[in-house]
Amino acid sequence: MANPGDLAYTIKEQADIVRIVGEYIKLRKSGAQNFQGLCPFHQEKTPSFSVHATRQFFHCFGCGASGDVFAFVQKIENITFPEAVRLVAEKLKIPLPKMSYASPAEARAARMRGGLIDIHERACAFFQEQLRRPEAAHAREYLASRGLAPEQIAEFRIGYAPDHGFLLRDALRKQFDDEELLRESGLFSWKDKSQSPVASSQLPEGADPSGSTTGHWPLATAYSRFRNRVMFPICNESGKVIAFTGRTLSADEKAGPKYLNSPETPIYSKSRVLFNLDKAKEAIRKLDYAILVEGQMDCISVYSAGRRNVIASSGTAFTELQARLLGRFSKNIVVNFDPDTAGAAAAERSLALLVSEDFQIKVLTLESGFDPDLYIRRKGLAAYDEALSHSQKYFDYLIERARTLFPIRSSEGKVKALNYLLPHIQRIPSRIVRDEWANEISHRLGIESAVLRQELRHAATSRSASRVSAASGGGLTDAERVLIRALASTAPARVAVSSREGLDSEFEPARQTHFALTRERLHEGFAAEGLIDSLLLAHEQGLDPMALPLEEAERSVLATVLMDEHEELTPELLESALRSLRRRALRRQMDELQHQLKEAERRQDSTSAAKLLQERIRLRKAMSVVGETA
Ligand SMILES: [Zn+2]
Repeated sequence: MANPGDLAYTIKEQADIVRIVGEYIKLRKSGAQNFQGLCPFHQEKTPSFSVHATRQFFHCFGCGASGDVFAFVQKIENITFPEAVRLVAEKLKIPLPKMSYASPAEARAARMRGGLIDIHERACAFFQEQLRRPEAAHAREYLASRGLAPEQIAEFRIGYAPDHGFLLRDALRKQFDDEELLRESGLFSWKDKSQSPVASSQLPEGADPSGSTTGHWPLATAYSRFRNRVMFPICNESGKVIAFTGRTLSADEKAGPKYLNSPETPIYSKSRVLFNLDKAKEAIRKLDYAILVEGQMDCISVYSAGRRNVIASSGTAFTELQARLLGRFSKNIVVNFDPDTAGAAAAERSLALLVSEDFQIKVLTLESGFDPDLYIRRKGLAAYDEALSHSQKYFDYLIERARTLFPIRSSEGKVKALNYLLPHIQRIPSRIVRDEWANEISHRLGIESAVLRQELRHAATSRSASRVSAASGGGLTDAERVLIRALASTAPARVAVSSREGLDSEFEPARQTHFALTRERLHEGFAAEGLIDSLLLAHEQGLDPMALPLEEAERSVLATVLMDEHEELTPELLESALRSLRRRALRRQMDELQHQLKEAERRQDSTSAAKLLQERIRLRKAMSVVGETA
């Protein structure tokens, strides 16, 4: 499209495609003249997108997208060729004459977008001016109460929308006389003249219900959408104001929602924008991770404190477009809101989406009662950084959550916990990573049943089954079955315990099991805990296990186990069952200890940490004895 002699050609000659593409995606040198990165136009994990520095073109070997610098900007910004030329020229600070467009419709659409950008810029300046006026004292007080300094207010261009419904309109009227543009801007509410006359009570203060007109457009019919609100501008990736969020200063419920956002317009689609990305993108690229907070205030606070790689989701669920947008700068994200509390559903959807888009996610959970804003103001940046460095991997976080939500001491709880975690694992794009997590989960939930483990791995790796079910026999582990059989055995069996020594000795499974279990309580937390306790009691009292007054479920478990004996009960089998229980007990202690250790480190309690480290050495030794590595 750019031919020698025309303006676009001149601009293209001056533009460095590597630098311009590099503003949008992360590129690294891959040859003398080549740069590579992940394609922004299709989903991929290994870079097939290349940019040639001297020949000034890009090509994606994955989806076939290719072209020059304008084609790239056009495609990524979703704009026309003339707009792309204009944008590149702006980036290079080359002054431009008027543009020509391919069709009148294209020209109109481009003019509309340009006009909307201009009108938002003007409105933003208007709100900023208003904030400095005497009438805005309460707005300034509110901002001060939220800990915002004048520099932050200036940097984020925070403003005030006056209560008077026509001030903005009057301010804009001098410059913008196109009614369509004003309608499209989303800055006004409208009462069409064709509709029944507006009741004066519905109009804002200062409205003239007679609908008198003095300009090109009807005065009484357009009034500010945002009134008596603190205004936070929302910018696109290149820092242009495209929308606003208005925080009400009125206690009156009739004043509308606490936070009011601009509607969707030709320049603003909330699913495509991430708050503060324009300011944060450089830092995100450099540090190779983004901090995601929920609210704009949190975002401003973290950013002003010096952590520049922060963006806000603004309380709504992340969209695929937003994930792709962010993914151009980094695929690593630390999520700093509590997915447990308010907005949990949105937070959970966001995380689910980020997992499926192959982000590496960590969760930063601050002490309860603290949002990032409050945390930094009360405890300072160093404390926040410290907390940041202790962010937990998302799946570790989920497993811990599952362990709190469901009592994993029972087999029923385990199955519930598994079914809670399964959909999360199934979203991970990589099969190998899914398998790893399935193993990790079995381990951490103490799932010893081979059947259940297998089922989980299968569901996770194939992404097919949506649930796992408890294995027959009430979800008992193999170890539990052996112990039940041992305890239920009455007559001592004669077996050779040690063939090496050639000695015959009595093998008394019930007695030996009783001895181990009463001393170490190894069966605690298992599905069969109650049944095993009854059997232990029966052994002490010399009762026939089958004559015990058991609950129906327990009786049926006992019957299933005894009916299903197809492996001889040997001393080795019993020993291995006990060892398995010991391993599990140690793993639990280790998990608990690691947790305490993390807490101690977070509190910077070095005395406790030292003690816990000692304890960990002891535990590791004990684990290696039972053949467990930690
Ligand atoms: Zn591609």
